[in-house]
Amino acid sequence: MAEQFSFKAEIQQLLDILIHSLYTDREIFLRELISNASDALTRVQFESLTNSNLVDAGAELYIEITPDEEAGTLTISDSGIGMTREEMVENLGVIAHSGAKAFVQKLKEQQAAGGQDVIGQFGVGFYSVFMVADKVRVVSRSAHPEAQAFAWESNGSDTYTIEPSDRETRGTDIIITVKEDAKDFLKPWKLSDIVRRHSDYIAYPIYVGEPKEGEEQEAVNKQVAIWRQESKEVTDEQYDEFYKMLTFDWEKPVHHIHMRADVPLQFYALLYIPAGSEANPLMGRREPGLKLYARKVLIQDNTTELLPDYLNFVAGVVDSEDLPLSVSRETVQATRVMANLKKTITNKVLNELKRLQKNKPEVYHQIFEAFGRHIKQGVVVSPGEREDIEPLLMFPSTKTASADEWITLQQYVERMAENQTDIYYVIGDDYASATRSPHLDAFRQRGIEVLYFVDPVDPVLIMGLSEFSGHKLRAADEADIDLSNVGAVSADEEAPREALPEDQFTGVQERFKAVLGERVTDVKESKNLVGSPARLVTSDHNPTRNMFRINRLMDRDYELPVKALELNPRHPLIYNLSGKLAADPQNPIIDAVIEQVFETALLQDGIHPDPASMAARLYQLMQAATERSGWHDCRRMAARRL
Ligand code: ADP
Repeated sequence: MAEQFSFKAEIQQLLDILIHSLYTDREIFLRELISNASDALTRVQFESLTNSNLVDAGAELYIEITPDEEAGTLTISDSGIGMTREEMVENLGVIAHSGAKAFVQKLKEQQAAGGQDVIGQFGVGFYSVFMVADKVRVVSRSAHPEAQAFAWESNGSDTYTIEPSDRETRGTDIIITVKEDAKDFLKPWKLSDIVRRHSDYIAYPIYVGEPKEGEEQEAVNKQVAIWRQESKEVTDEQYDEFYKMLTFDWEKPVHHIHMRADVPLQFYALLYIPAGSEANPLMGRREPGLKLYARKVLIQDNTTELLPDYLNFVAGVVDSEDLPLSVSRETVQATRVMANLKKTITNKVLNELKRLQKNKPEVYHQIFEAFGRHIKQGVVVSPGEREDIEPLLMFPSTKTASADEWITLQQYVERMAENQTDIYYVIGDDYASATRSPHLDAFRQRGIEVLYFVDPVDPVLIMGLSEFSGHKLRAADEADIDLSNVGAVSADEEAPREALPEDQFTGVQERFKAVLGERVTDVKESKNLVGSPARLVTSDHNPTRNMFRINRLMDRDYELPVKALELNPRHPLIYNLSGKLAADPQNPIIDAVIEQVFETALLQDGIHPDPASMAARLYQLMQAATERSGWHDCRRMAARRL
């Protein structure tokens, strides 16, 4: 007696979309079913390593595709692990496939619009069969000896049935009654073609059609473990194709690393660097980790123990000859072999990145653009590997042409100015505003290069990067930087204006102190400012001093650091203020200017908590500046407003 069940609501939606899709690439249903069959084979192969009590213990592992034009059916069979009755309910009655879930979700969001074009970019899993099926019958017998065969059947409407069935051997048959407009899928040549295009690297033989009388049947797919081939035997297309099968990323990888090692460990690896940090946005993030095989047997899908976290953007396959086959998924981590594999593979990836940086700078640029943040994270969290990671870092600088033109720390050091021993950087919220930073005045004047640290993670980076090959890294806003002997002021630089006489400057300085109070730690005369009237400097050398920027980004609580204000005694604005003070110390424009100087300095460091709050004062200052009789009348005006 067949029992009837209802599909979960989300499956009904998915089925509805699939059945009514006019989708031209519906051949991918075959890829999905073959992939499921391959998984079932891998699972039984794995299980048989430790459990000899399985149905057909020694049976060949294969996939068979049998079209029957007369009956209008297509059958995909495998000798895999099979399913019990419970497993059928569990696996074929709910959406197991994360891709399918994301797909339904996406479709709900953008109802219909463009929906049909995206099916191919998903693995929608088993249900994709309903793009070509009027009816599907799944007959399966689990490999576990006491289990019985059952048949699951559905026409893709709201319900499915399950009934006892017979199948002598272990495994699964998916019997598809093909839709009228999908009869093409009953042609053996067409099926073979699809298999070769989408499933060539499946590790088990895929047979298409009945064997001819007296002939040994040949598998349609290559079944090679591509990573075990000589790299000169593999074409770029094959590498890319394999990557797509592996990751479902539709963009080509930027680079692949095909390696084979014999001593001290024997293993094969095929690694890829994806083009972007978000693989398929509809599929969600790819899970980090490599596929781990032991002598061609898949042990674990997302093995994160083979590369450090900061390289987890690398995708690929590792196949070891040294891991014991009896290794279980749980004990894999603990083996010494794993630690050695990790070391060797990590070195290889780092060396390869270095090589690209040198020989294929455009490729490396693309990689660093997508994954530079991962690499920076490595500097902070893997201090032991710092020396290998640091050369990979790149930054724009005051001597590069744009935000997208970067140099390495090594390049920086090689072209340091005369007598320069430290490496200078300026932190900013973005490149454009950092280029206008007042901290750069003196560096520019003396021809000293400064790196722009304008990536939001850079404040974290400097916690791990205090020096590079013997040179200290120093922020351009550190109060105690003395550049007087470093570099040289270029000859065509205009002779600087005289500094304001000491006693007059003190007057201005005292007024700033009085107005700003606790908002600054001190007000000092600057030795470094050239074209700017003021800047905020810090004497805090604690590497965590910029963490507030991260906290602010993440909407966490943070406190603005209180810094010292430096004034430029040569700047006309400071001269003017001094004049105003002498003429009438009560003139309210003086304090308004002081406030604005301070807030502008905050703004230039990207740490003004509320820039819009300056608007009222700015209007007031503009109004004063445009009064017909000049600054003198502003007192009356200001008295009204302040
Ligand atoms: P996914 O393969 O991503 O898990 P599917 O919807 O394609 O999602 O398949 C759902 C589940 O059904 C699989 O996870 C598996 O447990 C089971 N299944 C599908 N096909 C087979 C098969 N040929 N042999 C054994 N189990 C299968």
